[in-house]
Amino acid sequence: MDRNGSIENVIIVGTGCAGLTAAIYAARANLSPLVLEGREPGGQLTTTTQVENFPGFPEGVDGPQLIMNMHRQAEKFGARFQYSEVDEFEPGTDYHRLKVDGEWLEAKSVIVASGASAKWLGLSNEKAMKGHGLTSCATCDGAFYRNVPVCVVGGGDTACEEAIFLTKFASQVYLIHRRDSFRASAILATRALNHPKITPIWNTAVTEYLPDDRGEMHGVKLKNLETKEESTLEVKCAFIAIGHTPNTAPFRSWLPTDKNGYLLKKDGSFTEIPGVFAAGDVVDPYYRQAVTAAGQGCMAAMDAERYLAHQDSPHHPQTA
Ligand code: NAP
Repeated sequence: MDRNGSIENVIIVGTGCAGLTAAIYAARANLSPLVLEGREPGGQLTTTTQVENFPGFPEGVDGPQLIMNMHRQAEKFGARFQYSEVDEFEPGTDYHRLKVDGEWLEAKSVIVASGASAKWLGLSNEKAMKGHGLTSCATCDGAFYRNVPVCVVGGGDTACEEAIFLTKFASQVYLIHRRDSFRASAILATRALNHPKITPIWNTAVTEYLPDDRGEMHGVKLKNLETKEESTLEVKCAFIAIGHTPNTAPFRSWLPTDKNGYLLKKDGSFTEIPGVFAAGDVVDPYYRQAVTAAGQGCMAAMDAERYLAHQDSPHHPQTA
């Protein structure tokens, strides 16, 4: 329910590219959407610098700036924003309920655009090292590590792509993978393996981050998973690229997910539950681009608008 005790038309969960595009479309459709900003407002674009592949920006655009522009654009058309995390979700027939900050909100439709968060290795001093030579975003932090050795952990497309990107700055890029072959597509794997600045380290896990006396990374401890041999590798930064976890916690018990936890859609942006739509990285383990997330956000708002129009139609069985 909104502050006047009435039921919202649409609540949008998430303020990344998908959520904000949904907010622009829903606001322009006069639905006065309520947009919930969670723990990572703005989503993953806020952790990038230059976005060079968003159509319409031939010179590139700053990621946080792009998000701020979308936010402003949604607000201009009447979207309302609230800094709240969704703790619980309960689907209903006429409306759905979301528990935020201990209060239940009610909405005729919900767009889940809660994104995905980077996975980490789970080592003991991980929290302290983040921002001090430990990051999950080469695009954001690569330029800080010029002419020094760095490592990337992972064997997928992201790890290979980030390693290749980092060769622009670093003196040497170690690509540490737990197996002896990459999961990445052949083209990226070959490009990484053929790069003179990239050295793969196979069958190996990072077991410890090593800080210097100022708390900045100066190396990582490695363990060869076959021989069990331990060693130290001197690097100034470790880029963790081992995939993402979709942020589905409050929805998981109601909406089906794939084996990696991504929400499954039925058709367009429709989920199994009428009136609940999904868009962006929370449903997309593959493309994960700003522009695809924006497209999906648009689709979800249009689907929600049509769903609401149908619900309110005099011929609809519930309202007739
Ligand atoms: P991913 O394909 O899931 O790969 C994750 C990698 O990290 C795997 O090599 C995995 O090892 C490793 N890993 C996972 N957990 C680990 C752990 N705890 N410790 C050490 N290593 C661990 O993730 P992604 O590379 O982020 O790609 C996600 C999706 O986006 C993929 O579908 C990918 O094709 C797509 N993508 C495409 C492009 C592009 O086409 N340009 C760029 C980026 C991403 P194992 O191999 O042993 O499982």
